[in-house]
Amino acid sequence: MSEQKKLLEVENLKKYFAVKTGSFKKNYVQAVESANFFIYKGETLGLVGESGCGKTTLGRTLIRLYEPTSGKIIYDGKPIYDSEKKIAEKMLPYRRKMQIIFQDPSASLDPRMTVGEIIGEALDIHNICPSKAERNDRIRNLLSQVGLNTEHANRFPHEFSGGQQQRVGIARALAVNPEFIVCDEPISALDVSIQSQVVNMLEDLQEEMGLTYLFIAHDISVVRHISNRIGVMYLGCMVELAESYELCAHPVHPYTKTLLSAVPLPDPVKSRARERILLEGDIPSPMNPPSGCRFHTRCPYATEICKQEMPKLEEVGPGHYAACHHLEQA
Ligand code: SF4
Repeated sequence: MSEQKKLLEVENLKKYFAVKTGSFKKNYVQAVESANFFIYKGETLGLVGESGCGKTTLGRTLIRLYEPTSGKIIYDGKPIYDSEKKIAEKMLPYRRKMQIIFQDPSASLDPRMTVGEIIGEALDIHNICPSKAERNDRIRNLLSQVGLNTEHANRFPHEFSGGQQQRVGIARALAVNPEFIVCDEPISALDVSIQSQVVNMLEDLQEEMGLTYLFIAHDISVVRHISNRIGVMYLGCMVELAESYELCAHPVHPYTKTLLSAVPLPDPVKSRARERILLEGDIPSPMNPPSGCRFHTRCPYATEICKQEMPKLEEVGPGHYAACHHLEQA
């Protein structure tokens, strides 16, 4: 990557959801806790972690599909949300720049609309291609860009396979010529045989259009191939962030080491010989997260300070960040 300009920066970003518990006390699901990171223009930042760790919530909060609870979001040098300065920019102009591809393509496409109408709706909202001829041309071009036939514009989502539906979702996101796309587990619901086709297509589109991606997945082996850098989340907190190769070759956080130990190796002999780190217990509830380091209930290196103080994400090497009180032991 030649240019190292930051496209998106977040500082102390939190997202809590209020929940009804039946008692008078208000309870919150603490889905994202103090996220601090940035995304370079033109890069793919992978985001991994177990289901329920807050990856999707973080992705949606970044583009303000969910309104943040507090913190700061800066897009291309301009604060679009700042809880301290009470800034909450209107998002319509930013929706053209920031798009999302959803995990479940069938649920994200309106079954009553044709593919042409679904893609055309995005063009109409932003008043792109006001003439009918231009609009139809644009829809046809977008369909071929994602590997579909132009006649597919007249069909309904249920007439497509999962992979084709996801291509429609990608065409809809591309319709407005975005700069930044949150790819929210875009291949998890697809057959293994077509996952790589969709990943390759996303990589080609990134090169052609200079796109920046936040690529969310629960499987680190998927994101390591597509991402320039990878962030690891555990129970709403970013615990490690580094360049992909560095993170996979030299992980420093105990949780990242656990995730990597579960990735199958191509060589079965090496795979059998490698020690698999198994975590005890389940991921705690985000409604009642552990005090201090949220990983302390499952971490083999936890000490008293881990139960009391939440570790900060600090630079432990060039561009390598981790949040742990005992990196020297882990
Ligand atoms: Fe484990 Fe403590 Fe580090 Fe958390 S801070 S990962 S509990 S050693």
